[in-house]
Amino acid sequence: MKYFGAHVSASGGVMNAPVNAHAIGATGFALFTKNQRQWTAKPFAEGEIAGFRTTCGELGYAPQQILPHDSYLINLGHPDPEALAKSREAFFDEMRRCEQLGLDRLNFHPGSHLRQISEEASLDRIAESINLALDRTHGVTAVLENTAGQGSNLGYRFEQLAYIIERVEDKRRVGVCIDTCHAFAAGYDLRTAEACDATFAELDRTVGLEYLRGMHLNDALKPLASRVDRHAPLGDGQIGWECFRYIARDRRFDEMPLILETPDESRWPAEIAALKALSEA
Ligand SMILES: [Zn+2]
Ligand SMILES: [Zn+2]
Repeated sequence: MKYFGAHVSASGGVMNAPVNAHAIGATGFALFTKNQRQWTAKPFAEGEIAGFRTTCGELGYAPQQILPHDSYLINLGHPDPEALAKSREAFFDEMRRCEQLGLDRLNFHPGSHLRQISEEASLDRIAESINLALDRTHGVTAVLENTAGQGSNLGYRFEQLAYIIERVEDKRRVGVCIDTCHAFAAGYDLRTAEACDATFAELDRTVGLEYLRGMHLNDALKPLASRVDRHAPLGDGQIGWECFRYIARDRRFDEMPLILETPDESRWPAEIAALKALSEA
């Protein structure tokens, strides 16, 4: 079974996210469980958790169809010890919020070295940050997203994701989410079925496809290996529909959230319908 959706709004309360997903014909969705531009959030009200769980149940969204995303402020590879501690606390809070909502995975960007420490030292910090969060939570998998490699963001090479996973103690609770725009911007070609074969074979060889917990389906505005993170509607960018047809039809991407983060929300219902049609063809 394929679960196609989009990163929908949770404004007004997390229980609005499944409602918004249902309205666009999505069989999966992503959400922020708190304001993504703020460090702290009030704990959930008792009714909010129950409301989210009930609404997801009624609309047919199981945890494996949902991919929450953490705050953009968090940097688990931060060179400064105080800033790192602040990020680790915020990440723990994000993991705990997922746990409270009954969700089983949290998607996040690995982190940045900010040109103050080596890539390796920053990757070590990221792995340790994950270990600390996993020690304090239960049932939630930390899902590393590959990045475009913009600025000093790490995770743009599959080897970097593998390096982090290697250092995570509980391998059952670490995974990856591959963003097609980020992969393409980082130099992994996805424009043809052959290119997709090669890129996913490389992912399997370096990381292992058994770690895949979700995908972000975005076309890319900028050319291959641009290292610039600019999403485009499916078919409107440099990647093109062949990649999304490939993913829609490949069983290796079943049973996980496949999430649009494309810029024009008004096109989400059509993009989801097109993906569904491809998967059923
Ligand atoms: Zn992301
Ligand atoms: Zn993404």
